[in-house]
Amino acid sequence: MIHDARRAATLAIGNELIEGRHVDTNSGEIAARLAELGIEVAETVVVGDERARVERLMRELCAEFPIVIATGGLGPTLDDLTREAAADAAGVPLELHGPSLDHLRTIWAQRERPMPATNERQAHFPVGAQIMANPVGTAPGFRVWVGGGVLAALPGPPREMRAMLEGELLPWIRATCGQGPAIAVRSLYLCGLPESQFAEDVGPWMARGENPRVDVTAHMGVLSVKVVARQTSRSAAEAAVEARALELAQRFAPFLYSREHPALERALFEALRARGWRMAFAESCTGGALAERITRVPGSSSVFLEGWVTYSNGAKIRRLGVPAALLEAHGAVSRETAAAMAEGARAESGADLAVSVTGIAGPDGGSLEKPVGLVCFGVATAQGTQTLERRYLRHGRDAVRAFAVHTGLELAWRAVAGPPAPPDSSARRELR
Ligand code: AMP
Ligand code: MG
Repeated sequence: MIHDARRAATLAIGNELIEGRHVDTNSGEIAARLAELGIEVAETVVVGDERARVERLMRELCAEFPIVIATGGLGPTLDDLTREAAADAAGVPLELHGPSLDHLRTIWAQRERPMPATNERQAHFPVGAQIMANPVGTAPGFRVWVGGGVLAALPGPPREMRAMLEGELLPWIRATCGQGPAIAVRSLYLCGLPESQFAEDVGPWMARGENPRVDVTAHMGVLSVKVVARQTSRSAAEAAVEARALELAQRFAPFLYSREHPALERALFEALRARGWRMAFAESCTGGALAERITRVPGSSSVFLEGWVTYSNGAKIRRLGVPAALLEAHGAVSRETAAAMAEGARAESGADLAVSVTGIAGPDGGSLEKPVGLVCFGVATAQGTQTLERRYLRHGRDAVRAFAVHTGLELAWRAVAGPPAPPDSSARRELR
C-alpha cells in the first residue's frame, strides 16, 4: 500500500481504556498537535493489554500509515506489553539499553529506595529502536520501524506523554517530514442555536470535501464550531480559515459568545468587565452552581458581588424579599417568583444585573401543570425585569440542573453583551 505522507494513526493501549475506567485523551491531543504540522490523524484505535492483538494492530497500521503513535503499556508491570508487542511487530528481539537502566537506577536512588527488579523491563527496547527520553517519569519511549512505517511508543500518563511528544517526537517529525501542506484551525462557540439548525444554515460548508471545512459538536446547549483549512503554506491556510471564520461570525452573530474559549462564564465575565457592570445570582434549583461557575474565572471578584441559595419559601421571603402572597398565588416555580427573586437580589446587592433561577429538578415534586424539568428564570436590570420559562423534560435531575446553569449563564451574558436576538427561534429568522 502507498503511504499518504501527511496522514497518521494513533493507538491507545490499556484495559482501562476499553473498560471505560479512563478515557483516551492522549489520541485527541496528539491529533491536534500533528494537525498543526499538516499531518492528519485518519484513524484512532483503542486496544486492551493483549500482546498478540497489539502486535497485529501495530503491523496493520504501520502498513497503511508512515507514522503510528502508540500510548500506554510502558509501565514496569507484566500487563504493560507495548515493548514486547512492538518487538514482535518489528520482527526483532528486545535488548537491554544501558543508559536507560542507569537513568532508572538514578531515579530510584533519588527516591532512596532499591529499584524493584520488574522495573528493569522499562530499560528494554526492540533492537534498532531510537530511545526517547522521559523528562518527567520513569518510562522512556522509543521509535522503531515496523514494515514501512515508524511506530512511536509514548507513555500513557498524559503529563509524560505530552513531555515526550513536545520534547522528542514532534521535533523529530518536523525534521523528518519537512513542511507539507499546512492546516490552520479556528474555533467559534455559539449558544442558543440547535445543532441541526446550524447545519442547515451553514449548508455545503460542512460537506466532507470542503476546504475550509466546518465541523460542529453540541454539548449542553453549546455548539463548538471548528473551521479547518488545508493549504500549501501556513499563511495561505491562516488566511483561508480566518476568512471563513469571519463569515460564520457575522452570520451567527446573535449566538456567538466566544472565539477563544467554550466556557460561557468567561464570556459573561468579559462582557461584564467591558460594560463596567457587576452582578448577582439568586438560585434555587441550581444550588449555587451559577455562583460557582462565575467564580471559576480569575478576577471574578471585580464583577460578581454575591449569590443566594434560597431553597425554602422562607429563605426566598427573608433573603430576597419575595412577597409571601406572590409565592402563595403563583408557587415557588413560576415566572413571577423568578422575577421577584431577581429583583430582590438586585436591590439587596446593588448590582447592575441579577439573574435568578427556580425550577423542579426532580425526580419528585412535579405535577401535571408544573412537571419535573420546568425551570423559570428572571433577569433584572435598571431597564426592568424579564423572565423565561424552560421545560427540560425527560432529562433527569443532573441534566435539568446542568441545563439550568447553562441557560442562567446564557441569559446573563445576553443581558450584558446585548446580542440583538433572544435565545429563542425568532432570532434565527433574522439571519435569513
Ligand atoms: P501505562 O503507560 O499503560 O502504564 O498507563 C498509565 C496510566 O496512564 C493509565 O492508568 C492511565 O491513567 C493513563 N493513560 C494511559 N493511556 C491513556 C490514554 N490513551 N489517555 C489518557 N490517559 C491514559
Ligand atoms: Mg497500562
